[in-house]
This record gives sequence, structure tokens and C-alpha cells, in this order.
Amino acid sequence: MQNLSRRPRLKGVADRITFAAMALATPAAILGVPYDASSSFRRGPARAPATIREALWSPAGNSWTEALIDISDPNVLVDAGDVTIDAADPRAGIQGGVERLRATNVRPILLGGDHSVTYPIVRGVRATSAPLTIVHIDAHADLYDEFEGDRFSHACPFARIMEEGLASRLVQIGIRTLTKHQREQADRFGVEIIDMRGWSRGARPDISRDETVYLSIDLDGLDPAFAPGVSHPEPGGLSVRDVLSLIQGLEAPMTAADIVECNPDVDPSGVTSQVAAKFLKEIAAAMQCVPERWRTAPDADSVRA
Ligand code: MN
Ligand code: MN
Repeated sequence: MQNLSRRPRLKGVADRITFAAMALATPAAILGVPYDASSSFRRGPARAPATIREALWSPAGNSWTEALIDISDPNVLVDAGDVTIDAADPRAGIQGGVERLRATNVRPILLGGDHSVTYPIVRGVRATSAPLTIVHIDAHADLYDEFEGDRFSHACPFARIMEEGLASRLVQIGIRTLTKHQREQADRFGVEIIDMRGWSRGARPDISRDETVYLSIDLDGLDPAFAPGVSHPEPGGLSVRDVLSLIQGLEAPMTAADIVECNPDVDPSGVTSQVAAKFLKEIAAAMQCVPERWRTAPDADSVRA
């Protein structure tokens, strides 16, 4: 018979069990953000929430994830519709929409929209969450202090987020377009960057299960071979499977996520919307799987002092 007293003891385990039980009844919720007026080059992503939903429920596929979770189950995923964009103050409307959704005890999955929307979204999430570790997949660091005179451009959201202290960690993956200015900004804010050279050498993010993750996926982080329908295609990027492995391998709870920069205007086959829909499914499943992972008794090596 196993000697229970010799099993590793985990500090704070009672809190985790309480949280896990609550998390079981917390579905993910889609919220569309049809906004692309902060794009620096080309419009189009405002139409993406509609094309991603179409891909998600297309009869070409089914509603089950790779870990056999059925996202058509309303205990797993619900659809909260789109944010109403107020042209006079779009960011306030986006933040308010996220705050109202958070008040209903769901985990938001935001469908952009250009990447500028991540700043008001994170403001809305952070108001009611633990300190956030942002995992950011992108070809671009989006750390410009301003871009072509616009401090709220889709090239700037992570500068605003870090200035306001909205994230305790920012881990960027897939970066391959840094400039000297953005390198300096990354150093100033303590951003952890796994660029594509590092990724291809095997570098991976080190995120503990005690952190609370916000996942932001800019689809141009993928190689254009996998996701051509983006406004700023940049060769030499991640594969779809690379990103799925990141989502499925995350051991920390994911409190919210966004999928941005899908541009249906330059995606004639619709494959980029299908990629976005695939990520959406697996993110919804990962949000559900956390309690399962937490219930697994940690082995001695995984227990942190
Ligand atoms: Mn971006
Ligand atoms: Mn990008």
C-alpha cells in the first residue's frame, strides 16, 4: 500500500481545488471585435469575426477538439455576439464590452479586428483578474511608442499595456521584424522575446502553473504558407501545429485570449479563417482542461518551493 505521508505536499493546494471546481462551470465565450480603423496599411479585419464564425460552424468539420471536448456544448463555449463599436471612442466601447462579459463569469475569446484591440481588451480583463502573463504570438513586437503619429496603432498595443503595468510578464513568440527602436522598447519593459531564430533552435516559453495567462494570437505570427490572409505577411514563421502545441501544452489557467489580424479581403480560399477557428476551438478546450491538469498529483520535480 502506498505511504501517503511520503507524497510531496503542495502549498496552497486547498485553494487550487476550490478554484478548479469553480472553473468547471466556466465556459468560454466568443466576443467579436469588428474594428480595423487602427491598421497602418490595409483594412479588412473588421469582417473577420463573421468569417471565423462561419468557418467554426462549417459543415466541412465537426465540433470536437483534438482532446475530445465538444465545443457545441454551452457549458464549454457560448457566443456573446459582437462589441458595438462607437466610432467616437472605439477603445472605451471595446473595454466596456469585455468588462460586461467578464461580469457574467465566462472566459472571453475575442475575435479581432486589428491588433490595436488587445490594449482595451487587456484593460477590461485586468480589472477583474490576477496579474497577467501575456503570451503573444506575432511576427511583429507591436511595441512602437507611436506609429505614423498614432499611439494607438496596431503597431503599438504592447507599449501601452506595459506602460500601464497591465501585465506582469510579456512573452513574445515568433518575432522576426524587430527594429532598433522596438529592441530598446523591449529592454525598457523587460519583454521576453523568443524570436523565430530562437524558436527554430528549440527555445520555448517557461510558464508555471501558478501564473494566469492571457493569450494573444496575431495570425501573421504564422508563416504565410499556413495563414496567407493577413495584412502584413512575413515569411519564415510558425506552423499551425507549433501554435496548437503551445495552446495544448499550457499548464497555467488561461483567463482570456484574442485572435486578431485575420483579413478576409486577402484570404480568397478562406484558409486563414479556418486556422483562426481551429485555434478558437483548442483555446476553448484548453480553458476547460485546466482543472483536469490541476487534479493530477504533481510529481516531486514539478513542485516549486
Ligand atoms: Mn500584431
Ligand atoms: Mn503582426
